[in-house]
Amino acid sequence: MGDTVLVVGAGPAGLSAAANVTAAGYKVVMVEKEEVLGGAPILSGYARLVPSGEWAKDAIGRMVSRVEEDANCTVHKNAKVTQLDGEAGNFTATLSNGETVKAGAVVLATGFTHFDSINKPEWGFGTYEDVLTTTQMEQMVSSGKIICPSDGRVPERVAILLCVGSRDRQIGREWCSKICCTVSANLAMEIKEISPGTDVFIYYMDIRTYGLYEDKFYWKSQEEFKTKFVKARIAEVTASGDGRLLVKGEDTLVKRPIVIPFDIVVHAIGMDPNEDNPEISRIFGVGLEKHGFIERAEHYTNTCGTTRRGIYSCGAAYAPETIDDSISQGAAAGARAVADLHALVRKAG
Ligand SMILES: Cc1cc2nc3c(=O)[nH]c(=O)nc-3n(C[C@H](O)[C@H](O)[C@H](O)COP(=O)(O)OP(=O)(O)OC[C@H]3O[C@@H](n4cnc5c(N)ncnc54)[C@H](O)[C@@H]3O)c2cc1C
Ligand code: SF4
Repeated sequence: MGDTVLVVGAGPAGLSAAANVTAAGYKVVMVEKEEVLGGAPILSGYARLVPSGEWAKDAIGRMVSRVEEDANCTVHKNAKVTQLDGEAGNFTATLSNGETVKAGAVVLATGFTHFDSINKPEWGFGTYEDVLTTTQMEQMVSSGKIICPSDGRVPERVAILLCVGSRDRQIGREWCSKICCTVSANLAMEIKEISPGTDVFIYYMDIRTYGLYEDKFYWKSQEEFKTKFVKARIAEVTASGDGRLLVKGEDTLVKRPIVIPFDIVVHAIGMDPNEDNPEISRIFGVGLEKHGFIERAEHYTNTCGTTRRGIYSCGAAYAPETIDDSISQGAAAGARAVADLHALVRKAG
């Protein structure tokens, strides 16, 4: 068991952690609750990823193959950990499939849950067929056809509403989900590529295409693909008499009310804490931070740690995170788990 790390969750973070553990000569047992590996980008059918522009199924698919072909990695799909006994260097996990796993360390790479737009009813999701989420729109982009779900017509105008389920104190989501401005600027370009006659508008509070994403996504989307960015506060989405949707609110730059017809409205949904986190906290004995994400042990000196020794975390389990940073954090958590385990075993022997 001193040579095995249990990795829970097979998204970008967990796949990266697993590859780094086996690269150091240790073994991995991976436990994933879904039928397929790859996490949100695969389970939700993302289209082209930012910033690489690669299709999610290819980019994350390579990470999945690397782990599935690794003789030192055993994978349990459709499984969860139901009990964890022991301590750092000597854990025993009971799985929902009846198996028992002995491991010296645990990496929680259990990610996030997409915000459910039903919790923002005034913006029309669940009421109107042509109100979609970014994940649904990404699936449409992957299918190569942009059409209104209600009647199959090609949309003249698409509105993307930012910060749906993020930066919204009224519904208890105080955080910024970090990647949705960039994902939306990219999505606007993808829509235009497939459907050049469709105009795309992005309604925003602030634009947070941080770092190198500013020119590659924000400016490119505006200048080359003619995406229109409108600073606004959206009050509601309703139906118009002619079967279209009306986006109502206030243009906050000119301080005027706006009522604009659209064919499709897209919610740029944010990243909630994993809905399993209360259960994960109980089973693994780790703390959660105030919003419900997994609590980091100490920001600077134990950045991959949790509040329990021998249990590490990474990626969107800690906070809204990008794929690139989730992969880096997964690598760091895997390396840290192996280093601590090595020191423990050497001390004991
Ligand atoms: C609409 C949208 C588009 C996005 N597009 C991009 C993009 O283009 N580029 C980018 O950098 N980022 C993008 N992101 C962010 C991206 O989804 C995350 O950065 C990434 O998925 C985080 O990886 P992760 O491995 O930490 O978590 P996840 O991808 O959430 O993976 C967690 C895994 O753990 C499993 N799991 C959860 N709970 C348990 C449990 N109790 N037991 C066992 N297994 C469990 C899950 O099934 C899942 O497979 C996007 C986000 C959204 C909302
Ligand atoms: S990244 Fe942009 S859309 Fe997403 S929550 Fe932050 S400001 Fe809102």
